[in-house]
Amino acid sequence: MIALDSHLYGRHFLQIPGPTNVPDRVLRAIDHVTIDHRGPEFGVLGKAVLAGMRKIFKTQADVVIYPSSGTGAWEAALVNTLSPGDLVLMAETGHFANQWKKMALKLGLQVEFLPGDWRRGVDPAQIEARLLADTLRKIKAVCIVHNETATGVVSPIEAVRHAMDRSAHPALYMVDTISSLGSIDYRHDAWGVDVTVCGSQKGLMLPPGLSFNAIGARALAASQKAALPRSYWDWKEMLAINPSGYFPYTPATNLLYGLHEALEMLFAEGLDHVFARHQRHGEATRRAVRAWGLEILCLNPDEYSPALTAVLMPDGHNADAFRKQVLECFNMSLGQGLGKLSGKVFRIGHLGDMNDLSLCAALSGIEMGLAVAGVPHSKGGAQAAMDYLAQTAAQRRLT
Ligand SMILES: *Cc1c(COP(=O)(O)O)cnc(C)c1O
Repeated sequence: MIALDSHLYGRHFLQIPGPTNVPDRVLRAIDHVTIDHRGPEFGVLGKAVLAGMRKIFKTQADVVIYPSSGTGAWEAALVNTLSPGDLVLMAETGHFANQWKKMALKLGLQVEFLPGDWRRGVDPAQIEARLLADTLRKIKAVCIVHNETATGVVSPIEAVRHAMDRSAHPALYMVDTISSLGSIDYRHDAWGVDVTVCGSQKGLMLPPGLSFNAIGARALAASQKAALPRSYWDWKEMLAINPSGYFPYTPATNLLYGLHEALEMLFAEGLDHVFARHQRHGEATRRAVRAWGLEILCLNPDEYSPALTAVLMPDGHNADAFRKQVLECFNMSLGQGLGKLSGKVFRIGHLGDMNDLSLCAALSGIEMGLAVAGVPHSKGGAQAAMDYLAQTAAQRRLT
């Protein structure tokens, strides 16, 4: 059944966990003449966005911006700090951790992959034990995904730092914040991270096309000796010219206008408010899922993602068939199950440019979609979310 008329008016609901909805303000900022990226006006923009990104990463350290998807920033983190054959410790939190591992192998690194069941975050005790056992200091880096976008599980980044400190192991600490920065609290400096990786199209509310590294002093020192081949991703030339606001090659000028606007919006709201908004929308979504009688993929409530919720389909029902009905009937995109979760889960993105009513609409679309697709469920999920949002709305207004 294709209800094509539903696509002719109103807006498309992009409820995947990235790319996220781009606010009109950001779209208008991108709609600007493309200027000379070596001219005087550009330097002002370049400096402003680099300073803004430092605030978002909560770091005094260097930040670089690439014209690439997040995957590029993954590669940059590895090739700038490591040498062929180096051993990297990674943890199997889900599809994205798996992809980063595959990249490391392709680049000629060795990877020890701590196995996981895709329903939990990283266990700091396991990292500590592995580092303590590494008396020969073979492990050169620990790489963790903060918010595993495939599963809706947040790993305890600060606790892993403490575990690394207890083991007194010198490995670098690299964290993927592609789907957490700008929606979940993150602190590059305070949490002792050496390289943080991010992309533009999730919490930062931009289209795809920008990626970022925040580079701590230890990572910068490691880059002097790192022998993996690199050219486009090389921090050196980027960092040499960035202080003046310029780039060694053509940057994505119009996306940087968008970034400037998105940063203004995040700072105007206040980062703590941004994080609280995401927490609240995550809680409302989980109340809806429970009321439907469906199962949340994330097993540990301490690790629930404020950015997205992955929902398990009842046995015998395919998540992609359900998502197709939701798209065709209600003009809404939900996230698909990735990797081994293909067909088994759908993901509700509630990050980026979201407010209470857009969340209510999304949850209503899901509830109607469950009925259309004949998925067994109880009614009242959208209502449960509304009740929670109403209860907490006044309190939120006062903060
Ligand atoms: C989206 C995402 C990526 C991949 O980023 P691309 O922009 O698609 O290259 C990597 N890690 C996480 C956690 C993500 O959410």
